[in-house]
Amino acid sequence: EKPAASNFIRSIVEADLAAGKYAGRKWSGKPGPADQQKVGAGDTAAIRTRFPPEPNGYLHFGHAKSICLNFGLALDYNGACHLRFDDTNPEKEEQEYVDAIVDAVHWLGFEWGDNRYFASDYFQWMYDFAEKLIEAGHAYVDSQSAEEMRASRGTLTEPGKNSPYRVRTPAENLALFRSMRAGEFADGAHVLRAKIDMASGNINLRDPAIYRIRHATHHNTGDTWCIYPMYTYAHPIEDALENITHSICTLEFADQRPFYDWLLQRLAELGCVNTPLPQQIEFARLNLTYVVLSKRKLIQLVEEKHVAGWDDPRLPTLVGARRRGFTPEGFRRFAEMIGVAKSDSLIDMSVLEGCMRDHLGETAPRRVAVLDPLRLVIDNYPAGQEEWCEAPNHPQKPEWGKRPMPFSGELWIEREDFMETPAKGYFRLFPGNSVRLRYGYVVKCIGADRDASGNVVAVHCEYMPDSKSGTPGADNYKVKGNIHWVSAKHAYAAEVRLYDRLFAVATPGSGERDFLDDINPQSMTVITAQLEPALKDAKAEERFQFERHGYFVADRVDSKPGAPVFNRTVTLKDSWAA
Ligand code: ATP
Ligand code: MG
Ligand code: MG
Repeated sequence: EKPAASNFIRSIVEADLAAGKYAGRKWSGKPGPADQQKVGAGDTAAIRTRFPPEPNGYLHFGHAKSICLNFGLALDYNGACHLRFDDTNPEKEEQEYVDAIVDAVHWLGFEWGDNRYFASDYFQWMYDFAEKLIEAGHAYVDSQSAEEMRASRGTLTEPGKNSPYRVRTPAENLALFRSMRAGEFADGAHVLRAKIDMASGNINLRDPAIYRIRHATHHNTGDTWCIYPMYTYAHPIEDALENITHSICTLEFADQRPFYDWLLQRLAELGCVNTPLPQQIEFARLNLTYVVLSKRKLIQLVEEKHVAGWDDPRLPTLVGARRRGFTPEGFRRFAEMIGVAKSDSLIDMSVLEGCMRDHLGETAPRRVAVLDPLRLVIDNYPAGQEEWCEAPNHPQKPEWGKRPMPFSGELWIEREDFMETPAKGYFRLFPGNSVRLRYGYVVKCIGADRDASGNVVAVHCEYMPDSKSGTPGADNYKVKGNIHWVSAKHAYAAEVRLYDRLFAVATPGSGERDFLDDINPQSMTVITAQLEPALKDAKAEERFQFERHGYFVADRVDSKPGAPVFNRTVTLKDSWAA
């Protein structure tokens, strides 16, 4: 393994480690407030990062960037990375998503050991800390309507106005907050707000709401709570309770960092959380051409049945990528290649596809598949005869050996490898021309059969018995064309799905357009292909290069033993290049 590329986040981590910033930290082995972290012999992990998905959808390619970054840092700096389900929102969170997230992070190749957490397990601590903030005069219950609060927030150029309830005493606030918790009020009747500065230049510091009333059943805590912490309050506390050192998030949270720091500093002063405090670091989210990476849009594509489900191979979800045949290694290479930056950019899909192609090129055995079959008859091949040809499993890896492929007098070839009247520069089959049947014989085209409507239904050839590849006579034949084939009698006729990009334009839904109008109508073509017989035994998720075509995977859902179905992962060359 070569050393990982340097970037600004690594620089921060390395500087912190050099300064011994976390050397004296205590970590009891599980999350908790400061008074529960005083045991133990210090944190054995040099740094702690976390990947904190909200379990309200399937992970997508953008999440893969964050996963590779956070788990990668932990691996490179002898740290730990937590898998934390950020499930503080009682709505829209489901076990199905939790399971899918676990699978996806494992599939990408990362482990978290015992460090799997649910933010909702911290509700009691979050509540206790809120009471401490109230007692210290750092939070108050506001009883304005949502409308009034919005109106008094001010603008970028105008300061906000203090709420009339801002003068409530800690005792009044505490009593009200406890009544909120006890379920005495309807949703929206009151909120708990941090008491900071309504004139702050940063609107996020103008007394942000930190708790709201929500009479809703939570997937983990049931009906225990009818008040729930706001994300901006919950997230810094989750980080602190878990002794996170570097809390890495996307750029849109940069404006929240002053509140993140304010809150944790107050809680540290009150003895609630361990120090040194975690630090938030923002990086540019992944934006990719030809896909949408917003959960809302992905949900719409699935629910409105523009795709077959969350694992549709055309979707930029990790379950979709897996079915498509993309590899975890390819994602990790991609994450390393694009690096992390401090400003947003748009990465071309061909960069990701190139990473997959490179990895598959190294690891996928070669096989032969005829996707658009046309019959080829060798008129002078002895009737009923069969023999074996040998094909290398990987042209650059002789140690992978060769496999036998049956050869006979009737073969399948690609329809495009024959032209009755050849175009200029066409070196494949046309009457009078000779080509090599790759790994087999040289054949000369002598004609073609047509059906009543004039379509070519078979090509006739003669073979040269002394031209077989690998025999001494083979070198005597110099031909320009070299085409692939499978023996018709032995071939495995299989369903093959030719996937292409789901969207026809680089930035779906740009401007006023509805992103659904940019769907590529040709994103999937289902064909019956003729495959070399060995492919009949392919196991689900086995990946291959089909020579001259691209990379294919045995579908993990629809394949049956002895009857695999194949999905095209990527073509051999980037057909989308301008
Ligand atoms: P949404 O806002 O659509 O609900 P989210 O992007 O906030 O979804 P989370 O489940 O909260 O989804 O994300 C988990 C982590 O993945 C967060 O730390 C987030 O920063 C990161 N992440 C999400 N999308 C991207 C992206 N496009 N590029 C990089 N990181 C991302
Ligand atoms: Mg989120
Ligand atoms: Mg998002």
